[in-house]
Amino acid sequence: MLTRFAPSPTGYLHLGHAHAAAQAFGFGPCLLRIEDIDKTRCRPEYRTAIYQDLDWLGFDWPIPVRIQSQHRGAYLDVIDNLKERGLLYRCFKTRAQLQDAPPAPLPEAEIQTRLENKEPFAWRLSIEKCQARVKSTLTYEDTEQDKTVDLSQLDDIVVGRKDIGTSYHIAVTHDDMIQNITHVVRGADFIDQTPYHVLIQHLMGWPTPIYHHHALLLRDDGEKLSKRHSDTTIRSLRENSLTARQVLDMSAP
Ligand code: GLU
Repeated sequence: MLTRFAPSPTGYLHLGHAHAAAQAFGFGPCLLRIEDIDKTRCRPEYRTAIYQDLDWLGFDWPIPVRIQSQHRGAYLDVIDNLKERGLLYRCFKTRAQLQDAPPAPLPEAEIQTRLENKEPFAWRLSIEKCQARVKSTLTYEDTEQDKTVDLSQLDDIVVGRKDIGTSYHIAVTHDDMIQNITHVVRGADFIDQTPYHVLIQHLMGWPTPIYHHHALLLRDDGEKLSKRHSDTTIRSLRENSLTARQVLDMSAP
């Protein structure tokens, strides 16, 4: 078995990450992956900080670490593959326009006009088209219970973002496949993403790992911890002379 811890270097790791790392590294053999495809938010100095903080907490991982920003071409190839099979469509809508109506493919003539006007667009997965390719219900194994994905309940998600050309969904499923991940251990806040990952795996003929969604560490007021709450970063706790053991104990819910 093989799992992975896959933080995004968008800020310093906080107690919630210490908890997530303990879950993943404690589950079994575990890789570290840096999910930094979003160049608008990720910074190299946060990647270095991730290594330092995880090392200080006492985790170790095999080298080399997979750094997603170095594999953009592989993700674009997946998008091209889906595109060539007619499973994607261009979406020119802005976030505000999507509030009024769900995304839908446009007539060819309108697409051409918009392309000529150099309007930016995202690539969306057409669930309708997917329904012709895979079964209408897919199953996957979750450590809690076996789960069913009902395609009719899914939305046409963005798989190629306007700004970066690719997306989390494509990068994460591609890398779980290429790194032979057998168990995906991640926070319960990703549970709604998993059906889309299972769908992409079926479309691409990739194996579906077993999923384990662990409980999230919540603040005292019940809110999820986030990078905005810098008072709980691992480094600030370290600077306040806490030991790694104390920080890991604090991070256990
Ligand atoms: N990169 C995601 C994060 O920063 C984790 C995604 C996953 O584990 O699938 O939380």
